[in-house]
Amino acid sequence: MKEAASSPLSQRVRETPPSGIRRFFELAEEMDDLISLGVGEPDFSAPWAARAAAIDSLERGRTSYTANRGRSDLRELIAEHVRRYDLSYDPEEEIIVSTGASEAVDLAMRALVDPGDAVAVPQPSYISYGPTVSFAGGEPLPVRTRAENDFALTYEDLERDGAAEASVLVLCYPNNPTGAVMTREELAEVAEFAREHDIFVLSDEIYAALRYEDDHVSIATLPGMFDRTVVFNGFSKAYAMTGMRLGYALGPAEVIGAMNRIHQYTMLSAPTTAQFAAIEALGSCDGAVEEMRRAFNRRRQFVISRFNEIGMDCFEAKGAFYVFPECPPGWEDDEEFAETLIHEERVALVPGRVFGDGGKGHLRVSYAAGMDDLKEALNRIESFVDGT
Ligand code: PLP
Repeated sequence: MKEAASSPLSQRVRETPPSGIRRFFELAEEMDDLISLGVGEPDFSAPWAARAAAIDSLERGRTSYTANRGRSDLRELIAEHVRRYDLSYDPEEEIIVSTGASEAVDLAMRALVDPGDAVAVPQPSYISYGPTVSFAGGEPLPVRTRAENDFALTYEDLERDGAAEASVLVLCYPNNPTGAVMTREELAEVAEFAREHDIFVLSDEIYAALRYEDDHVSIATLPGMFDRTVVFNGFSKAYAMTGMRLGYALGPAEVIGAMNRIHQYTMLSAPTTAQFAAIEALGSCDGAVEEMRRAFNRRRQFVISRFNEIGMDCFEAKGAFYVFPECPPGWEDDEEFAETLIHEERVALVPGRVFGDGGKGHLRVSYAAGMDDLKEALNRIESFVDGT
């Protein structure tokens, strides 16, 4: 029976708070001379060859839908590309091209989560996982990672926070917001937990190409994990193609097929122009990605050493383009620190608590900014910390 409601919105939507990052940036938008180290996207443009391929496809009038799962030549190139991570997927049945990794995450949640299912979401982590679990009718179950473990997820973390109850576990390494990575040995513990408790893993590896000290390892390559893992990746971060909205998911045929069923009805196909850009990106842009990775790495080293000099403890983040320093001594509230810093020094950082309780007392700093801006921002932070 239909009940009279005071709001036309669904309960799920009403219960989902707006993104804490957005709220923070509205504050920053009004300021002149602001240096923002808050954004989660590369400061580079997509490699020219990829842009040229997009333009060429438009000039040729290639503006129709593609196959639901994405162009088959693109899926073949993706299958070839991910072999560098020892991942092996059949382009026909085990790969789907999506509108950003974001859509793939949403599809996977809807394909795997029944109402009331618990989904373990490590915290701090990227802000979309919890809401996509809720939109699918599930219950996010926060699992806290620890600064003393450099924010790697451990077997103890999972056990302590009751993740055995979960049917799905989200993993995100290299991590947004901490920049943490996980080694094969560390992932093996998580895989063991997943196998023991029959948990399906959604592994967001969108920052796989931005790893600075060792090679990326995917949990899907560990024994017994292929059949219980979907891997997400995409073009936004490695190829600086955020606005083209293209990503993909890799996984067992049954799950990718179910994701495709939802995608058929809700999206039809990922953007065609972006698919042409992606084909070129995979075919010829490894050099451009490597150049960006090297630039990020120089900035990463600079930023980590400056934060430690300033007295804001900063562990050595080895991936993505974020570092996650602690608030300086005397400051416990990351939100208050970030707001005061914006007002007094016009430097925008994101308070760690935006990414879950596990982020409290920390700040997310993106080094996807030019070296001059990074130097100036760190000088401003130093004079702020020295003066308080
Ligand atoms: N996953 C993580 C961990 C991210 O940090 C982001 C963007 O910030 C996304 C997914 C979204 O990726 P896409 O642009 O491919 O939707």
